[in-house]
Amino acid sequence: MPAIIDKIKRLFHPHSEVFDHDKVFVIFVLGGPGAGKGTQCAKLVQEFGFSHLSAGDLLRAEQNREGSQYGELIRQNIREGKIVPSEVTVGLLRNAIAAELEKRKENTEQGWGDGKGRFLVDGFPRQMDQAHIFDEQVCESKFVLFFVTSEEVLLQRLLERGKTSGREDDNEESIKKRFKTFVETSMPVVEYYKKHDKVIEIDATKSIDDVYTHTSAAVRERLSI
Ligand code: UDP
Ligand code: MG
Repeated sequence: MPAIIDKIKRLFHPHSEVFDHDKVFVIFVLGGPGAGKGTQCAKLVQEFGFSHLSAGDLLRAEQNREGSQYGELIRQNIREGKIVPSEVTVGLLRNAIAAELEKRKENTEQGWGDGKGRFLVDGFPRQMDQAHIFDEQVCESKFVLFFVTSEEVLLQRLLERGKTSGREDDNEESIKKRFKTFVETSMPVVEYYKKHDKVIEIDATKSIDDVYTHTSAAVRERLSI
């Protein structure tokens, strides 16, 4: 549909979601860079059959996709620890959700099949407008898993990861900028969801397995299985 018609429709139906939140279960996974979001998500995938969508990974894949019109824009923002324009990231997430629902529509295991599914949206929303756009126009999220630890721990983990990750932003200069963006731009998102009682805070300082004990219990309770 041409963008202008889509916009006019939304003026009259601002809350029409692309995916029905009664069928599609979305958890946002937030926390400072290096908090262990990706690691905990991988374990949730194993236990509960989630599809794990990392906004950062989707952006890096798009950056490297031949013919992408956004490659340079994404690269610059990531290196500077800034937020890529929301339409780009929301579009990538929306496409990824649609593709996954399509792929798993025949398989009715673990909350899937017939347009149903469960998603971990990792590293998103990182800015207030993204939260509104996603909840109102893509699919209303159920809650936020928020992994918390100190900046010292985060820095150590990122520098360690930087030795092998090959990521252009795992160096001290980019890391500092990412911390700043996290505090100034992403924390307001967490505060907003806290006000709506939608945040589950998890201490991410301990070992992967210790943290996962809490993560798993919190998710199990809310999936009511
Ligand atoms: N990013 C963005 N919008 C998002 C998510 C990520 O612009 O919604 C960019 C941002 O520049 C961020 C980078 O991608 O610093 C890396 O994000 P990722 O989630 O991979 O980093 P992590 O927090 O997991 O270390
Ligand atoms: Mg990550």
